[in-house]
Amino acid sequence: MQNDSYHNLFNHLYDGLYFVDRDRRITFWNRAAEEITGHRSEDVLHFRCRDNILNHVDAQGNSLCLTACPLTKAMEGDTISEDEIFLHHKNGHRIPVSVRAIPLKDEEGRITGAAEMFTEITPKQALETRVRELEKLALLDGLTQLSNRRHLEMELAARLQEVQRYDLSVGILFFDIDRFKRINDTYGHEQGDHVLRGLARTLLSIARPFDVYGRYGGEEFVGIIRNVDLEGLEVVAERVRKMVAHTSYRFDQKIEHVTVSVGATLLRSDDTVPGALERADHLMYQSKQDGRNRTTTG
Ligand code: GH3
Ligand code: MG
Ligand code: MG
Repeated sequence: MQNDSYHNLFNHLYDGLYFVDRDRRITFWNRAAEEITGHRSEDVLHFRCRDNILNHVDAQGNSLCLTACPLTKAMEGDTISEDEIFLHHKNGHRIPVSVRAIPLKDEEGRITGAAEMFTEITPKQALETRVRELEKLALLDGLTQLSNRRHLEMELAARLQEVQRYDLSVGILFFDIDRFKRINDTYGHEQGDHVLRGLARTLLSIARPFDVYGRYGGEEFVGIIRNVDLEGLEVVAERVRKMVAHTSYRFDQKIEHVTVSVGATLLRSDDTVPGALERADHLMYQSKQDGRNRTTTG
C-alpha cells in the first residue's frame, strides 16, 4: 500500500493519530487528531510536538514534554508506552486522553520515529475510571488481585441475607497453605509471594462466574460458592485441593508443590459473618490435625 492509501485509512480512525520523526517533528496528523485537539494538520506539520502544541501534562499538572514524553519513552525504550494524560486543546483547555506511543522502525530495525494514538476520555469515563481505581484499591488484594478480606466480608454479608430471605444455599471454603513457612524459609519471601500469586490464579481458573475467591489473610484464602449443597461444596473443595496439589513451581532447579487444608461449610440462616468464617476456619484446622492436604466439611 502506498503512503497516501495509509493516510487515507488513518484519516478514518476515530482515535487521534500522529507520527513524529526522531526529533519529535510531526510528520502526519490525522482527522481525529484535528477534531480532538482543534489543531489543523497544516498548523502542526513540521513543528515539534513540544512547540506549544500538545504540551502533555500528567494528572498532577506536571509538564511531560521535556522529562517524560510518551513518544520519547517509546523511542528510547524501544517499547510501546501507555499513559493517561492531559493534552492541550487549541482553545486553551485541557483534555484527558489515554495515549499509546509506538516506536516506528525502518527495514533494518532502526528507530525512525514514533506514532502516538490517543482517545479522548470523556468526563463520565474519567469519573468511572477513577471509581474503578478506588474500588480496586479498597476491595482488591494488591499481591494477588483477588478480592481482599473486606470484599469477602461484604460478599458474605450479602449472601447471608439471601440465605435468610430466600432460603438460598451458599457455601464457604476456607483454605490455608500447608507448611508455607518452609517455602519462605527455603527460597525466600519473594518466591513465597510467587506461590501465593500462582495459587490465586489457580483459584480463578476454577471459579465459576458467580463464585468469589479472595485472599483472607497471609496464606489463607476463602471461596464463596453459590447454589450448592454440602455434598456439592465438598466436590468443589476437593477439585481445588487436587488442582493446587498437582501444580508445581520451579525454584533453584527444584520442583516444589504446595498443598492446602480446606474447611467447607454452608451458611446457615442464624449465622453471622464472623461466626460462619470461624466455623470454616475450625474445619480447616481439623484438616490440619488430620494430616493436612485434605478437606473437612461440617
Ligand atoms: P501450617 O499452616 O500447615 O500449619 O503451616 P504454615 O507454615 O503454613 O504455618 P502458618 O500458617 O502458621 O504460617 C503462615 C506463614 O505464611 C507465615 C508467613 O511466613 C507466611 N506468610 C504470610 N503472609 C505472607 C505473604 O504475604 N507472603 C509470603 N511470602 N509469606 C507469607
Ligand atoms: Mg495460616
Ligand atoms: Mg499455613
